[in-house]
Amino acid sequence: MSQPFSKCLFLPVLFVVLTFTFSAACLGAPSNNVFQVSWNPQRITNGSPCIFTATSGEPLQALTGTFLGREIRFFPGTQKNTWYGMGGVDVGTPAGRYKLELVGRARNGERWEFQQTIFVGKTSYPKITLNVPQRFVAPGPEEVKRIEEDKQIKTVAFLKGEPYPEWSGDFAMPVDAPASDSFGTARVFNGKVASVHRGTDFRVASGTAVRAANDGQVVLAQPLFFEGGCVMIDHGDGLKTIYMHLSQIEVKPGEHVKKGQVIALSGGTGRATGPHLHLAVRWEGAYLDPMKLLKLPMPNYREHEAVKSSD
Ligand SMILES: [Zn+2]
Repeated sequence: MSQPFSKCLFLPVLFVVLTFTFSAACLGAPSNNVFQVSWNPQRITNGSPCIFTATSGEPLQALTGTFLGREIRFFPGTQKNTWYGMGGVDVGTPAGRYKLELVGRARNGERWEFQQTIFVGKTSYPKITLNVPQRFVAPGPEEVKRIEEDKQIKTVAFLKGEPYPEWSGDFAMPVDAPASDSFGTARVFNGKVASVHRGTDFRVASGTAVRAANDGQVVLAQPLFFEGGCVMIDHGDGLKTIYMHLSQIEVKPGEHVKKGQVIALSGGTGRATGPHLHLAVRWEGAYLDPMKLLKLPMPNYREHEAVKSSD
């Protein structure tokens, strides 16, 4: 699933309005087919993470993109003239056709633009009912205050992070246990409060070692009201993994962790029906299906220093 990229000269201001319909504006430009864009997985649905691969016939100095209103940062791969960009579709995104827009800067200063319509399919998620202690459904004034404080703490943690990919290779399972197929389910707690389950649950007994899914830096490590014991790891490039309901936390904010490193012990703290590990994946504010990320082959980026000097 790839399309040719038309090489374009910088468009005069007069044509700025036409950049919206770039394909038409570029019909007169030579179609050198110097650029190819593909994505993995090929079928994207709500909740999918995806890796965009852009290959140019000539060296590029920089490449950026947007998809579904979020910036896609492209970084050079180890293969010549190949760039990779992390993207994702929030679980709440309706099915439809969406534009991927890329802007590349060639070494000679030329600006290349590219648009590709990508179909986002629909994954249907079931509805389930659950029972939890009443304070999680109708919290009292003290608990409401704590929930508000937690919100602030999470907002600060969400804003932290390195712009460059810090992960190393594919993401790994955080526990040695099968995942329940629970991402995206609409849940009704005690017949009242409904929420979408924005993570994957792993059925593990309390005290099971929980491991970092990949390299990164801890940006949150503390108990929260709904999440219980919670650890958030920033993997760079807007990508974070969040581990919830932990009984014991083994890391501190600011600490760098390696893939497979034990970061906590599992539990059933917070709004949980019993002991389990809840793993969430967040990219640029979009919640993605953790199991899809765990199965996604991650690209080999060039060393970070090379990435920085190529800007
Ligand atoms: Zn969960």
